[in-house]
Amino acid sequence: MDTPDWNSIPDLPGGSELRTDVATRQEAAADLGNVVHALPGAVLNAKTTEDIAEVLKWCNEQEVPVPVRAAGTKHNMYGQSIPPAGGLRIDMTPMNTVFALQPGTIDVAAGATLRDVVHAAWRTGQRLVSGPTGVTRVSVGGVLSAGGWSMVWREGSVADRCTGLELVTPTGIYWCSRQRHPDLFRAALGGCGRVGIITRAHLQLCQAPSSTRTWMLNVDTVGEAINAMRVLADRGVATELSTRWHPPDTNIYRVIAASYYDRKPPTDRVLAALGSPSARFELNYLEHITQADAIYDDAIAERAWHTIPRSWSDLILPGRSINTYIDQTFPEIGPQDLSGDSWGLILPHRVAAFGTTALRLPEPGPGDDGFHYLVDVLSDQPAGADATWLARQADRNRRWWTRARRLGGTLYPIGSTPLSQTEWRAHGPRYFDDVTTRTDPRGILSAWAHPPASVPV
Ligand SMILES: Cc1cc2nc3c(=O)[nH]c(=O)nc-3n(C[C@H](O)[C@H](O)[C@H](O)COP(=O)(O)OP(=O)(O)OC[C@H]3O[C@@H](n4cnc5c(N)ncnc54)[C@H](O)[C@@H]3O)c2cc1C
Repeated sequence: MDTPDWNSIPDLPGGSELRTDVATRQEAAADLGNVVHALPGAVLNAKTTEDIAEVLKWCNEQEVPVPVRAAGTKHNMYGQSIPPAGGLRIDMTPMNTVFALQPGTIDVAAGATLRDVVHAAWRTGQRLVSGPTGVTRVSVGGVLSAGGWSMVWREGSVADRCTGLELVTPTGIYWCSRQRHPDLFRAALGGCGRVGIITRAHLQLCQAPSSTRTWMLNVDTVGEAINAMRVLADRGVATELSTRWHPPDTNIYRVIAASYYDRKPPTDRVLAALGSPSARFELNYLEHITQADAIYDDAIAERAWHTIPRSWSDLILPGRSINTYIDQTFPEIGPQDLSGDSWGLILPHRVAAFGTTALRLPEPGPGDDGFHYLVDVLSDQPAGADATWLARQADRNRRWWTRARRLGGTLYPIGSTPLSQTEWRAHGPRYFDDVTTRTDPRGILSAWAHPPASVPV
């Protein structure tokens, strides 16, 4: 693209910094997936909503409009937060203020992390109703743009428990909710940053439990794990449900159920007829909900996790076809998919808890069991892998996505499945184009493929 005259951006009274030096741009040319690289023309370290609005207006008014992407903590794996080369990346992390905490709600800037939210809420004896994502070092804006699946299976996505958003588009600043600009609200939640830049959000809170009890149950097949999660959900005792597997024991599936309680912990009877737990432990809520962060921090510090190329497949399957998908797909999983810090994860979520957002979910169908299942295979590049590994994994991700689609499934677009521009447009809900035609008429946020661009830096 033509190089815009970045010096002609008006003064930014809120103190946001526009950086065009090579070192800053190079650092902003990647994400945690370490696969897609595109050198932005500039990086905005955003400090205020008004500054972002000024800059978006400028990008929109250039003769050749400047493509823009917001970046939170860059945990999407395939360049989702990187604009096409020469575009503008907006770093949202300086906007991390917790504005207010009341019983039932937190009002927070979108660059804050869920970890900031979880800690602030805990200090008032509260927790996120939706639960946070497994790792909480991710930005509020990034998670709301993706949707956000926690281990709490009854409450829908993190986006479903958002009650208000401040959104900046090329045409202005909007406060939106289910009552005000409801079309913008539902398009921005789960909208992958294509509708506008989320600068502030209200998230629902509820009373935190004083304690949690976790059981781990090892089973030999993923089919048994799905069945165990269905039974545990029926029994109603577990607040959280998930199944995980990882090297070196990739044929042991760990069903993990956690119960929140205040007085008396539930007994092992919750597992009756399913087996004996391989582990059981109690933690206070804060220790419990930040467990994965500690593992993640170790992986970063000890094994330079953040420098390894990785390829993630993230798909949402309806209850009627989860077993078929698994029967067809899991025999294909081998050491090329699960080595080092790679892992697999299945999160069931109650269908009835999801509201209307742009998070693309399976349509209902006969034979459904009341759950959607997020199935993640999160692959690190194995040590010594040859140069073809990434291309083979991209083929794998497309093959699995195609299969999931045939079975009524959808893509959870945080991972590494390459889509054409047409496929990416079709991924959005039907009302998406109506909204973006009004708010982003020149397509600076919404116009391109997934991932936006990939060029050597
Ligand atoms: C170790 C690990 C564990 C994870 N566990 C889970 C999990 O349990 N459940 C789950 O659902 N996800 C999980 N994720 C995925 C993660 O929650 C999502 O990738 C989330 O989007 C990351 O937020 P981020 O701030 O890093 O977003 P980024 O990667 O920075 O951005 C993601 C997308 O959101 C857009 N965006 C970012 N900020 C804004 C904003 N303020 N306004 C508008 N658009 C914006 C970007 O343009 C991009 O399209 C995990 C990821 C990792 C690496």
